[in-house]
Amino acid sequence: MAIISDDEDLGRRVKKNPVIKPETIEYDNTFENSIRPKDFDSYIGQSSLKETLKITLEAAKRREQPLDHLLFYGPPGLGKTTIAGVIAAQMGVEIRITSAPALERPRDIIGILMSLKGGEILFIDEIHRLNKVAEEILYPAMEDFTLDMTTGKSQTAKTLRVPIPKFTLIGATTKAGELSSPLRDRFGIIHRLEFYTVEELSEVVKRTAKILDIKVTEEGARAIAMRSRGTPRIANRLVKRVADFAIVKYDGVIDRRVADESLDILKIDKFGLDTTDRALLNLIIEKYDGGPVGVETIAAALSEDVRTIEDVCEPYLLQAGFLQRTPRGRKVSPEGYRHLGINMPSSQTRLFEEL
Ligand code: ADP
Repeated sequence: MAIISDDEDLGRRVKKNPVIKPETIEYDNTFENSIRPKDFDSYIGQSSLKETLKITLEAAKRREQPLDHLLFYGPPGLGKTTIAGVIAAQMGVEIRITSAPALERPRDIIGILMSLKGGEILFIDEIHRLNKVAEEILYPAMEDFTLDMTTGKSQTAKTLRVPIPKFTLIGATTKAGELSSPLRDRFGIIHRLEFYTVEELSEVVKRTAKILDIKVTEEGARAIAMRSRGTPRIANRLVKRVADFAIVKYDGVIDRRVADESLDILKIDKFGLDTTDRALLNLIIEKYDGGPVGVETIAAALSEDVRTIEDVCEPYLLQAGFLQRTPRGRKVSPEGYRHLGINMPSSQTRLFEEL
């Protein structure tokens, strides 16, 4: 139950947090914002998610009811925020974007919930980082569209059930496993976003190149896609970097040679691994005989944050099969050794056979 005894400045705080229209969603990165797909047609890949959503959206519209609460999970940059914007635009409603670390105090979440209008979407990024109090405020809000509030102190305390407009919560997380089950259970649709295929990423590359007004050949797009770690955010970043090279060092067209040479200079290898990824694999091989070694040790040795290692580096290294997660820590796989051109010691080969 939420305890708030002083909410005088709630109105002022709410005013400072205007609802954001889908077409003007303010993301910190303006380049990302300018290329973010706004409808299902320009949202590439994730076809099973799009099919499910189209039906769910149509049903909600026909019933004239707000959409069920949705939870999207998967590594960063796969399009969780983007699909939330597409849903809002498709439903013709506004979306409020926030992230769990910004909802530290009860009044933060209460302020947002009270300012929502009927049918609107509340998007909470990194929802696994929501604190217990905020979660408990959300339960009745998600289930019954009410806020349970206690005002006043001890004996004079009064409990109020305050109705709030019907809204849709869209949660996004890189770590679905860290969500408490009561919170997870309150989402009607839970969907994992998948890494993109090279073909899908080629489409992303071509679309972004068009927006940037730079020519890209089919093979050039594919070369960038292959080094994008299955992730549109990375594909977009690489297009921009390669476009700079194409304009300054070449004739302004991204073909296969331009893409390959530029990405080699940027030290992005054929599988999209960058210097940090290779440093991670090399560290485990050279200092820990290929593992297993704990993620904290890896992070400390690389002077990186554990969260960056877990959320940014590892998902793709695991998916590509270069790294394995075992109960005793991380191990470099035979493919990882092969990729770095290092022979796997026979002691490690045996360990892998036992797994
Ligand atoms: P997440 O919220 O999962 O971290 P975002 O939704 O912020 O990822 O997406 C990162 C970038 O990748 C966006 O700027 C967007 O342009 C691009 N992007 C994501 N998904 C797609 C997609 N399906 N099609 C085209 N571009 C996409």
